Amino acid sequence: MTTVARYWRETPRRYNLGGCRCPTCRTVFFPPRSVCPACVTHRRSFGKMEPFQLSGDGEVFSYSIVHDAAEGFEMQVPYVLALVKTPEGPTLTGQVVDVAPDQIRIGLRVHATFRKLREEGRAGVIHYGYKFAPVSEPLAGTGTAESASPAQAPGERGRVRA
Ligand SMILES: [Zn+2]
Repeated sequence: MTTVARYWRETPRRYNLGGCRCPTCRTVFFPPRSVCPACVTHRRSFGKMEPFQLSGDGEVFSYSIVHDAAEGFEMQVPYVLALVKTPEGPTLTGQVVDVAPDQIRIGLRVHATFRKLREEGRAGVIHYGYKFAPVSEPLAGTGTAESASPAQAPGERGRVRA
């Protein structure tokens, strides 16, 4: 476990949601683990966990509005902290940005975005390096500025604005 924690801290993989997957039961974990706790024979998974890239897609599963920020985050309150269920399986915890606290709702589609954090090294979810932003769902029949670009692949329309 210590090895995994160090690996987690020292690698930039944390910035692109690199998790891992159990080769036996296919369960995906994020952050990555060295063994699969879901398998009865979990010891057999030791050293065999496969790297797995999360897409960054997700849906707000639960959330809370934080009014009392940790030291160093005072400028951001109130902010939204959410549990985000990913289609790959893992539930991620992170701040949801670009959404007013009164607009957050269960089921909101979000996508992970990587932004420079105000402070590094502080314990807690925020130092993971990712946050979530709402996915702008295209409205039928309306031409938005974002959907007008012909160079944009269809699969990218849910991307996060810079
Ligand atoms: Zn497993």
